[in-house]
Amino acid sequence: MKITSIDIIAIDSFFGESFRPIITRIHTDEGIYGIGEGGMAIINGSHAVFSMLKDYAPLLIGRDPLDINLLWDELFRNTFWAMSNGPVVMSAISALDTSLWDIKAKAMGVPLYKALGGKYRDKIHAYASQLHFSWGGQDFNRIGDLEAYRASAQQAREQGYDAVKVNFLAMDETGKTRSNFLLKNHLDWDTLHTVEERLRIIREVMGEKAEIVAENNGNTDVNTAIQFAKVAEPFRILYLEEPCMPLSADNYKAIADATSIPLAGGERIFTRWGFLPFLQKRAFAVAQPDVGNCGGVTEFMRIADMAQLFDISIQSHACNSPISVAVALHVEAAVPNFLIHEHHITNTFDRVREMGIYDYQPVNSYIDVPQIPGIGQDLSEFALSHAAIYTVK
Ligand code: MG
Repeated sequence: MKITSIDIIAIDSFFGESFRPIITRIHTDEGIYGIGEGGMAIINGSHAVFSMLKDYAPLLIGRDPLDINLLWDELFRNTFWAMSNGPVVMSAISALDTSLWDIKAKAMGVPLYKALGGKYRDKIHAYASQLHFSWGGQDFNRIGDLEAYRASAQQAREQGYDAVKVNFLAMDETGKTRSNFLLKNHLDWDTLHTVEERLRIIREVMGEKAEIVAENNGNTDVNTAIQFAKVAEPFRILYLEEPCMPLSADNYKAIADATSIPLAGGERIFTRWGFLPFLQKRAFAVAQPDVGNCGGVTEFMRIADMAQLFDISIQSHACNSPISVAVALHVEAAVPNFLIHEHHITNTFDRVREMGIYDYQPVNSYIDVPQIPGIGQDLSEFALSHAAIYTVK
């Protein structure tokens, strides 16, 4: 089999915040094509991935798409920059690598999880992610008022979720985004009181059995993350995500040593080399490589294997298009140390759901693993008619 052409596809953003998925579609001389996504859809940067793919795509023309490991290494070595693990290069490699895996699974006539060695589970447990944007809406609606948090949690509970993720600090009491400079050094009484009230209302609405994930998006530092954790500990938090700068394993470890809440991170850490120091220090209990930017399906599976050696759980970070959602479900099904799946609020917006030909939504907090050959997802006519497409032959 030979690669004949590659489409690089940038889907338009429909939201107040930038959300612009970058997709690759690799065509072959046997009529099979493969889809993949570079995971930088949100908050600026996607144009860079689009351009990086223009540089990379010619390297694959004429090559055998089933030489996945070899092509991964060639892409990694064929730019000066990949060895520093930056998100732009690694998102581009991830998109191409995932497209190759889609081709391989389709050529085998099996779902991706089967091509990866089979599945450990039929259903994937998922949490409703980002309740602070008002769950159930059609855009990113920031909320500050306590009753708005209650309503957001009620929406998730009524949809059957038994697990949720909330950034309890992102917005002030009026719903305005807090400057992250205010979230470092020291949190004052008012801020901690607001956090405690929000935690209480989410626990009250979701019930004692529900799982609650706290998300700090790297905006707190060691000092304020520990303050936060002390307030959150009585509420039985599943884990605290990105409590400090994403690249500091030592700072993670300092926080981990100071709280009983397990830590999670990894959406801004790339490749085996990026994850290794976090795993060796056991800086977090849950590794969250994004299958769209960690190095693709190939690298996600390697990171998952490495994490297992340290008894560290894994999930794919997810805030991209329905393409990445489908891929995440496969890799999460195919590893023994999977914990829980992120169902990001963007993937509940109609405009995002319409980008895929299949719609993977949780039912009572669980999503069935796709059963059709390949990744089990493709771009819809709607997506393709709202996209810029650059083809390399
Ligand atoms: Mg996160």
